[in-house]
Amino acid sequence: MRTLKKHQELPAVINVDSLGPITFVSSSRARRINISVKTSGGVRVAVPKRATLKEARQFVLSKQTWIEKQLTRLTRIQDEANKFSEKIKELDIDKASNKIATRLHELAQEHGFSYNKLTIRNQKTRWGSCSAKNNLSLNIKLALLPDELLDLVLIHELIHTKIRNHGPEFWQMLEKIYPLARELDRQINKYSGLLHLPL
Ligand SMILES: [Zn+2]
Repeated sequence: MRTLKKHQELPAVINVDSLGPITFVSSSRARRINISVKTSGGVRVAVPKRATLKEARQFVLSKQTWIEKQLTRLTRIQDEANKFSEKIKELDIDKASNKIATRLHELAQEHGFSYNKLTIRNQKTRWGSCSAKNNLSLNIKLALLPDELLDLVLIHELIHTKIRNHGPEFWQMLEKIYPLARELDRQINKYSGLLHLPL
């Protein structure tokens, strides 16, 4: 009965300092107080049965700097995503194809890769692919990515002409060319949700 009583007040939306409204929910699965910052900008706190709302609130205050950082990061990502979807509307197909093909050729030369046929088209689910015959298929929307992300995708597909999977060997080769490959790869993922947008 005691544990039940503790959480009668949950779920609750409470203003915590400068963080604004935060949703606290009771969770039977959470082993500790768990804060999640949603892409929509909302902050949700899962409170395990044995913790009190007061403790959860104090925990949130102790993590205030971290939460603010996450919120800022998400706002920035959202801004970039918005800009990307604006740019899609004015994409020049010929210019875009040209840009991608030229850069691919440059990177292949520079790093010693060769490929067979290149197809550039509007794909809705992925940035690129490499067939068993080393034919590359690239997404026209790559032209809208920041240059370093475009390069990363191109090198990613070029490496597939030698290594077909994403195992340790693949990453080793990718990180040799781009030491920050893993971080850049995470950045690309935030644009992937925009691939379905029509041209
Ligand atoms: Zn791949």
